[in-house]
Amino acid sequence: MIVLGTQSARYSGDIPAFERRTVRVSTDPHRPRALRQREAFVVRSDDVPEGFGWYILVDRPSRNLDAPTIELSADFNHLADGDVLRLAPTKHSLRVLFRRNASINSFLLTERCNNLCLMCSQPPRNVNDGWIVDEILEALPLIDPDVPEIMFSGGEPTLLGDRFFELVQACKSYLPRTALHVLSNGRSFANAEFAAKLGRIQHHDIMIGIPIYSDLSHVHDYVVQADGAYDETLRGVLNLRQAGVPVEIRVVLHKQTVSRLPALAEFITRNLLFVNHVALMGLEMTGFTKANLEDLWIDPIEYRAPLSKAVGILDRAKIRTSIYNSQLCLLDRTMWPFARQSISDWKQEYMPECDGCTIKDRCGGFFSSAHLRYSSHIEPVTGATGEPVELT
Ligand code: SF4
Repeated sequence: MIVLGTQSARYSGDIPAFERRTVRVSTDPHRPRALRQREAFVVRSDDVPEGFGWYILVDRPSRNLDAPTIELSADFNHLADGDVLRLAPTKHSLRVLFRRNASINSFLLTERCNNLCLMCSQPPRNVNDGWIVDEILEALPLIDPDVPEIMFSGGEPTLLGDRFFELVQACKSYLPRTALHVLSNGRSFANAEFAAKLGRIQHHDIMIGIPIYSDLSHVHDYVVQADGAYDETLRGVLNLRQAGVPVEIRVVLHKQTVSRLPALAEFITRNLLFVNHVALMGLEMTGFTKANLEDLWIDPIEYRAPLSKAVGILDRAKIRTSIYNSQLCLLDRTMWPFARQSISDWKQEYMPECDGCTIKDRCGGFFSSAHLRYSSHIEPVTGATGEPVELT
């Protein structure tokens, strides 16, 4: 697991007075001088270039330099050129907001939400957290415009109203080659004008990922703990379609959702055939999932059959379909082409049972939180000759 934040960063030197600041990381000693003052240089040798606004010492002895220094533990050896950091010297805090080499970078826009999902990985809080938007608006211009994709999550991002649109517009302006994936419960888009407003921004490559947990409204409303959510979410999906905004349907796989997976797949093919992607996602053992574990946990081996059936239905309807957060040895081999390595690298792990597995490098593995509970059917995969099994 990669460490992305600390409350024990040691700031020294002539620290400018500010509560928080967003800076780009540089490891390039030949960086143009005009850019250095707003960047933090990671010192990795005795030869330190002049003129940077900050110097970062990772697991190195203190030293006096011509700008403020930040001392960090070896946990931050992963810092790389192009990363973006939030500095908060008064709280001895430092947080990595963006990692240039990460498979996916996700920005939490707000902790507020109007659902209360049983398995929420980021339990909502009704707090005034508008500063997060300001911070992301500062970070976006510092991000390498060649990064393939970023993600907006929450909470519920659309509760920001006009500030949500401001962020989407900023992504379009500063990252004209980068895809934007927004995770939303879709309910705000039940307002047709809200959906149309997003469509009018004409972001070059946006996708709104929206959960639909069942073909039955009361099952969905129970999972998200909000009466009437299903109707609003469906109207939202239809309005986004009307506004020309691509939609992905996301289904978290757990005890409350798996029994009707094939029926949900049929529902999607009959009513929402226009969606651009369906993601069927294994459960993450964090947030509310821990508190509701007995209502949610089912060994993935037990839903192998309905999952295969649902994927078959969607695939035959030519809907692009993916299985996320699942271990290959628990899936039918016919499902392997649909399985993606979807767990962010900073929280991806493998279990001791995986030792000797010849397809480990292609398997998504586990969330680090899976130590709480995981399948008792994990079994290394070996080819007949001991060679890696070819995925088609
Ligand atoms: S044994 Fe292999 S296929 Fe199963 S979870 Fe571990 S790495 Fe993945």
